[in-house]
Amino acid sequence: MTNKSLRNFNSLKFEYSCESFLEVTSYEDLFKLSKEIRKSKTKYWILGEGTNVVILNDLKGIVIKNRLLGITITDNSVESASGENWDDLVKVCLQKKLYGFENLSGIPGSVGGSPIQNIGAYGVEVSNFIDYVETINLDTGNLEVFNFEECKFSYRESIFKKLPNLFITKIKFSLSKVFKPNLAYESIPKDIEISSAEEVRSIILKIRNERLTKPEAQPNVGSFFKNPIISKTHLDKLLSDYSDLKFYFINENQYKISAAWLIEKIGMKGYEMKDCGVSKKHSLVLVNFSQKSENIVDLSNKIKNEIVEKFEVELENEPTFIS
Ligand SMILES: Cc1cc2nc3c(=O)[nH]c(=O)nc-3n(C[C@H](O)[C@H](O)[C@H](O)COP(=O)(O)OP(=O)(O)OC[C@H]3O[C@@H](n4cnc5c(N)ncnc54)[C@H](O)[C@@H]3O)c2cc1C
Repeated sequence: MTNKSLRNFNSLKFEYSCESFLEVTSYEDLFKLSKEIRKSKTKYWILGEGTNVVILNDLKGIVIKNRLLGITITDNSVESASGENWDDLVKVCLQKKLYGFENLSGIPGSVGGSPIQNIGAYGVEVSNFIDYVETINLDTGNLEVFNFEECKFSYRESIFKKLPNLFITKIKFSLSKVFKPNLAYESIPKDIEISSAEEVRSIILKIRNERLTKPEAQPNVGSFFKNPIISKTHLDKLLSDYSDLKFYFINENQYKISAAWLIEKIGMKGYEMKDCGVSKKHSLVLVNFSQKSENIVDLSNKIKNEIVEKFEVELENEPTFIS
């Protein structure tokens, strides 16, 4: 389809269009597309459910919308096509009494989007369960499989962020047949008895519901910034000025600090600008009410500049910007 509006395909609800929009439902579609791309040298972008992209303008090229479906479960191993919805996969695994995904309940997006930024929530990351990620390299037409080490997962990072020519087709996960609740994360209440993974899932969904803003009500991409990682020297300097700074140990010389805390400290929680703002519920979430990206990009830059000035800390964007 040509000149299609992308409004219903990105959770910020930007009204940009693409020259060409193609929905892929099979590997054959992808191999054929790869041939065409190599011949025509057309620019392309891969789209899952559009919950972690910031589209900056009309896209001059092909948007490839993922519709690959199918889940196969054998024993404790789960193979999922990348076009499946992430939370549907979490539900299916719980129904099959396979455990591990419960803390990742309610994260929007596709299964194929999950390894890109190594989705994480409430003390768990998807990389904890990934055996391999299968891809089709659209620039060569080759099938390429990445084992766990080759995926180079870290906090909201993977090799795939640097290789946008790889279309993730399938992911193999290993889950546990034994339910072991992971309740260490600070915002999970400690005073309730947990006897099932379903209970953990409902607690997580309740917390998410209270803290996060649904894109249907206020268009957003979840966290707009990553939590910055700083050195021990920098941390000590900040702690001497701000004893209430929220931070987490990574290793002896690396500490993660809370980007939400930084934004609150510059007084921008709930801040409103023209057609966009910082969520009143969660200061890492920027909400958009405009059809174009300029305002939210200005707002994100304003936040970054104020934080550099006050704390000498650089915030990094979490979503992928595409143009
Ligand atoms: C309300 C809300 C809450 C959120 N909460 C969390 C959270 O708790 N934790 C968290 O980690 N994230 C969270 N996110 C971010 C988002 O849900 C995840 O990043 C999700 O994995 C994105 O999946 P998607 O299919 O929507 O990807 P898209 O937004 O469509 O794409 C994101 C990037 O991945 C690439 N991509 C997508 N699919 C493929 C594929 N098959 N092959 C190759 N590249 C692909 C795209 O090209 C793009 O660069 C939240 C977002 C929202 C809106």
